[in-house]
Amino acid sequence: ENESTVSITVVGASGDLAKKKIFPALFALYYEDCLPKHFTIYGYARSKMTDAELRNMVSKTLTCRIDKRENCSEKMDQFLKRCFYHSGQYDSEENFSQLDKKLKKQEGGRVSNRLFYLSIPPNIFTEAVKCSSLSASSGNGWTRVIVEKPFGRDSESSAVLTKALKQYLAEDQIFRIDHYLGKELVENLSVLRFANLIFEPLWSRRYIRNVQLIFSEDFGTEGRGGYFDNYGIIRDIMQNHLLQILALFAMETPVSLDAEDIRNEKVKVLRSMRPLRLEDVVVGQYKSHSRGGVTYPSYTDDKTVPKDSLTPTFAAAALFIDNARWDGVPFLMKAGKALHNRGAEIRVQFRHVPGNLYNRNFGTDLDRATNELVIRVQPDEAIFLKINNKVPGLGMRLDRSNLNLHYAARYSKEIPDAYERLLLDAIEGERRLFIRSDELDAAWALFTPVLAELEEKKIIPESYPYGSRGPVGAHYLAARYNVRWGDLDIEQ
Ligand code: NAP
Repeated sequence: ENESTVSITVVGASGDLAKKKIFPALFALYYEDCLPKHFTIYGYARSKMTDAELRNMVSKTLTCRIDKRENCSEKMDQFLKRCFYHSGQYDSEENFSQLDKKLKKQEGGRVSNRLFYLSIPPNIFTEAVKCSSLSASSGNGWTRVIVEKPFGRDSESSAVLTKALKQYLAEDQIFRIDHYLGKELVENLSVLRFANLIFEPLWSRRYIRNVQLIFSEDFGTEGRGGYFDNYGIIRDIMQNHLLQILALFAMETPVSLDAEDIRNEKVKVLRSMRPLRLEDVVVGQYKSHSRGGVTYPSYTDDKTVPKDSLTPTFAAAALFIDNARWDGVPFLMKAGKALHNRGAEIRVQFRHVPGNLYNRNFGTDLDRATNELVIRVQPDEAIFLKINNKVPGLGMRLDRSNLNLHYAARYSKEIPDAYERLLLDAIEGERRLFIRSDELDAAWALFTPVLAELEEKKIIPESYPYGSRGPVGAHYLAARYNVRWGDLDIEQ
């Protein structure tokens, strides 16, 4: 193994994601000694750049962890010396052959393993896969390709993309990234469930009343709506990130922690779900709003968005899993842009205590009296368990308190970015956190009919002011299933 090399080619290296996430993640892995001894990093894009210019560009976004600053700039210099650049077209086999020659030179006759990270717009995925695999695959080691969302925009286009990729790659070479799966608290979901006695026995319709998966951003598209307008929030956040979390949350116990065992369980739970119905969806779009002398724009004020766009920037949905464990339990999702706060969380609301002796001590608000587990994925990672507790004193008054695992307080460590974990796994061939094609098909099957119906019927999204809590329709939807949305802001 010592004598093998890994060459990592970032295709689309001049882009935003490469600069903001991929190169910094690669450097963090280098700093942590997680990259193999022999490795080379190549940036590939159409932009003209020299190696020195790429290094200069990359150097601006590298950082060291707060708790690990020793030799940081020295390490950066060593890392940058291993970074190179090749300018080429994405649909040119010849340009990728030139890259191949340069890679071979760096690999110096060792067994070569090659990882391509496609950080480019979706319309050129297939061409880039074709040309890179025909002209720059490894001759004697593995070749793997990381692809970024969007994986199509419905079942049909996703199937076309999968078929095209499979003309050039085997399933085990394709690493479909969903960076939510690389987030610390999403990985921790399985630990919480399967390494503790106290949660898994409660993990069913018997004790859980509803589950909420909430994503919010406190900014809009801000001039970058061109890509978004073609997809909308349901495709951008729900069908992938929130649904992946749901699958991990709700799956049965896997046979082992092996990738295929886990992915088998995820597919099973996705296939047990009912396709989403139009009456179980609320869509919204943000509108201009003035606050404190500042005017925030409407979605359609974004110059890259058509004036008559009906694309949802907010959606809420109720989903159901028709299996023995979850029959009848609503899984509510909510995702939106330009809301009052930013974050992602999972909330598990438990049932009422039957025959509760202390009912009168709660007043009339029984909803507040149930237990709730909150997993805050971002920002400021934390796990809270809301319990009922006696307020100290001679009387008998109860209040709701938190058993609180606040990561910043408990672990004085900076949490690695999701891209670090995912890149490391791709290098090591660990597929657990990547999406298999049957999982992707099952995910699209749930959302495709309702997406088509929204578009065919030209459903007008409910407007909500920029910076608000979203459209009221989301509350009616939840109320229909006897659910009240949780909100950390007001409850913590
Ligand atoms: P980007 O900056 O728009 O594009 C990356 C590079 O692709 C550009 O630097 C450009 O390089 C090339 N490119 C752009 N438009 C092109 C076109 N029409 N034809 C040919 N080449 C073109 O994209 P990104 O924000 O880095 O994102 C990369 C990928 O990750 C995309 O698939 C995106 O959907 C996905 N993604 C991004 C984010 C994010 O946070 N940005 C998050 C999740 C997923 P050259 O002109 O130098 O060739």
